[in-house]
Amino acid sequence: MTNAPDPDFAATTALRLIGPDPQNWVPDRKGVDHNVVLVGGGQTGSGLAFALRRAGVGKVSVIDSAKDEDRAGVWLTAARMNLLRTPKSLPGPELGVPALSFQSWYEARYGETAYAAIDRIPRLVWAQYLSWFRHFLKIDVRYRTRLVRIEPADGFFRLHLEIEGRPTVETTRKVVLGTGFTGNGGAYIPPVLSSLPKTLLSHTQDSIDFAALRGKTVAVVGAAAAAFDAAGVALENGAGSVHLFARRPSIASVPITRLRGYPGAYDNYRQLPDAIRWHQAIRFRRIGSTPTIDAIERAVAFPNFHLHLNAPWRETYVEDGQVVAQAAYGTFRFDYVIAGTGYFVDPSARPEIAGFADRILLWRDRYIPPADEQDPFLGSHPYLGEGHEYLEKAPGQAPYLRDIHVHNPAGFVSFGLPIGDVPSMRRDIPLVAARISRDLFLADVDKHEQRITGTMAADFPDDAYASAVWKPPG
Ligand SMILES: Cc1cc2nc3c(=O)[nH]c(=O)nc-3n(C[C@H](O)[C@H](O)[C@H](O)COP(=O)(O)OP(=O)(O)OC[C@H]3O[C@@H](n4cnc5c(N)ncnc54)[C@H](O)[C@@H]3O)c2cc1C
Repeated sequence: MTNAPDPDFAATTALRLIGPDPQNWVPDRKGVDHNVVLVGGGQTGSGLAFALRRAGVGKVSVIDSAKDEDRAGVWLTAARMNLLRTPKSLPGPELGVPALSFQSWYEARYGETAYAAIDRIPRLVWAQYLSWFRHFLKIDVRYRTRLVRIEPADGFFRLHLEIEGRPTVETTRKVVLGTGFTGNGGAYIPPVLSSLPKTLLSHTQDSIDFAALRGKTVAVVGAAAAAFDAAGVALENGAGSVHLFARRPSIASVPITRLRGYPGAYDNYRQLPDAIRWHQAIRFRRIGSTPTIDAIERAVAFPNFHLHLNAPWRETYVEDGQVVAQAAYGTFRFDYVIAGTGYFVDPSARPEIAGFADRILLWRDRYIPPADEQDPFLGSHPYLGEGHEYLEKAPGQAPYLRDIHVHNPAGFVSFGLPIGDVPSMRRDIPLVAARISRDLFLADVDKHEQRITGTMAADFPDDAYASAVWKPPG
């Protein structure tokens, strides 16, 4: 009988070859529980936990408000596409250790041919890989632990948490917000939809009971990827018909952010002048976020899918339990509406940071765009520092902001692409980990000076070479 090969063999070997994790070198602060709290246990929190461990930064805690691993992050919740939108070959959270990569994990289970045969990574398989990554590396995520409020204290933060619903306070020196799309704002519901009752309206971010839409007439408002995904799932669940409404005359099909994806532009984007970064952000806003072709095909395959172009909604009201919508060219009635209308960014809308949100430097405080490039949506994005940290609106007013690192899509204007997604992992996880390491090191410079100038035992005695020391003749 032959033993089945161990699919973790390469990963186990790689960990052995990169050597043991360094000891925690960060001096304890009396009364402070953690050096770093990573808020959000999705791919960002997990990747950063590994990076900080390898940097010798100990006392790192990962928390997530979700009740368990399956409910955390987007992959088994708000994301509904069959395949990831991103190419399969992008590096993920493996930090340059090939045996911890998706490809290595996949090939160890299904073989090289199977990997070569997939075009993009199936979403559910990516979720399995991330789960393996967490468990294999023993990254402990504290689920059911919600950050309610960050309270700045003297050189640290008091984190007001709810653990399994119970309020408690823990302290930390650094916080990373790996909190996803809603992490600096929330799901955006346009005013025309905002008066609809919850029983008739969901945002794509919500958990939606698609089975309940069987036989129903459904409207999807918005035409980016999440909107098409929601339409596809509604149709697969037997919706009577799905009408998708786009404001533009065609569906955005030019993924311009790929133009800035080459390493020179991507790695150094933060160094570009404000005017260039703003202009690039505006270009993206105007062209729009593109759905993938398979998301479009998934919906278009159904004869009861109808696409309305150039059809912004003007007015809605409820009549006889249905939503009546006046779109650009007609009046429609729907049993249910799904808003695929994206997310807004406004730090003051997040209870975690609302107490000091008015002190956070935003793009609108920093950069005055030309008249034809005004955009309040972009203006409300935080203007982040090089280590993704918040900066102060008025220098000296809130120095603690530099110890809160934003690792979520609110970094879009500053860094050129959404932060937290797969493409961002190669650049941003090492970058934030390095900044945290640097800050913690320099904050204790006296202790480190003592430590590096201290005495230590010799590695070998002087007599190890005494017999060979040259003695001049005479
Ligand atoms: C519909 C959709 C499709 C996407 N498709 C792709 C794709 O194909 N490819 C790609 O690269 N990216 C995609 N993205 C972007 C995607 O969000 C990221 O790739 C990925 O989810 C980012 O991981 P994350 O860990 O940063 O954030 P998330 O996965 O969003 O996880 C954030 C976590 O933070 C937790 N949290 C939030 N607030 C708190 C709090 N106060 N206290 C404690 N915990 C908190 C949440 O419970 C959640 O688990 C998609 C996003 C969406 C919404």
